[in-house]
Amino acid sequence: MKLKSLIILTLLISFQQLYSQENYKSLSKEDSTKTYLGGPKYDVKTYTQKFKTQKPRNVIMMIGDGMGVSAIFAGLTANGGHLFLDNFKQVGFSKTQSSDNYITDSAAGGTALSAGQKTYNGAIGVNAKGVAIKTVLEMAEEKGLATGLVSTSAITHATPASYIAHQASRGSYEDIAADFLKTDIDVFIGGGYKHFSDRKDKRDLTKELQQKGYQVLRNMDEIAQVKTGKLAGLTADEHNDIAIKRKMNLPLSTETALNILDQNKKGFFIMVEGSQIDWGGHQNDTRYVIIEMLDFDQAIGKALEFAAKDGETLIIVTADHETGGMAIVGGDMKTGMVKGAFTSGEHTAVMVPVFAYGPGSENFTGIMENTDIPKKIMKLLNF
Ligand code: MG
Ligand code: ZN
Repeated sequence: MKLKSLIILTLLISFQQLYSQENYKSLSKEDSTKTYLGGPKYDVKTYTQKFKTQKPRNVIMMIGDGMGVSAIFAGLTANGGHLFLDNFKQVGFSKTQSSDNYITDSAAGGTALSAGQKTYNGAIGVNAKGVAIKTVLEMAEEKGLATGLVSTSAITHATPASYIAHQASRGSYEDIAADFLKTDIDVFIGGGYKHFSDRKDKRDLTKELQQKGYQVLRNMDEIAQVKTGKLAGLTADEHNDIAIKRKMNLPLSTETALNILDQNKKGFFIMVEGSQIDWGGHQNDTRYVIIEMLDFDQAIGKALEFAAKDGETLIIVTADHETGGMAIVGGDMKTGMVKGAFTSGEHTAVMVPVFAYGPGSENFTGIMENTDIPKKIMKLLNF
């Protein structure tokens, strides 16, 4: 009898598992991308709110491309109610409109955040008249600070490009890559290898980078071992893969870059981008948004770990715009289930949050223009 009931029980359990699996499979394709069923969670540490100085020596600028409040809250729910972002006590909102459009793209949005001027959609480091404008990263370089860029897209893509290149059009990837050689940036990690190596003008920029003293590496394990010197980490031919598949590791890349840049005692400026939150939004894919959001938040965790220990580092986390008009129409803080809904396949006009941690963070509250963010950073760094 005992054996019989055990068999029945086993059958029941397997039937239930089969049934729930079927249930999952039976979700229409559309539903399956709208609903995240829950996944791995990580612990969120609490960091000190006491800092050594009034003004920062180092600035870590972190941009979640397309990261609106819903993307953040989707990630927060998926991770059981907490994100590393919880450590940011100074919060504001940024208006993202570009000079020629109510809805910005990532180039105009990136340029507003890098150089403090509104420009037209598609513009990389140039103003509305097409004239090159100096970015906070270039100013940092001029003042002898170390500089860096880390991105999960190609390093030549709009957001990182806006900090270092000056081109009329965001699609000029090979020209953007060539602009890296005009600078003394210390560390960059992202995709875009082919824009440096396989070019119409036949220049091999990877060789030119080596001649300038860069370690040009393509493998994440090798990149993570670099402790000093100049580093060009080109982890994909074009864009890095999605978070669960990519060879590039954003938290590890962030940590690696910070440790190299920290050797400059004058300080540093770095921009770290979670690029693909935007792509999840464009695809109206809740799971894609969440997986990228959690990856970006874990990179924020690495920045916090550094800044809390250092005490002279300001971290700003914001977005260039919202993507997908995302809303959250269901969820469960315990399981991490999130049901998303979208009103657009494009960017939207809504304000995006600004989070600040560290010395000077009190300057980043209230409603501001996106262009105010780099202006405040420049002021705090005495540029
Ligand atoms: Mg981007
Ligand atoms: Zn986009």
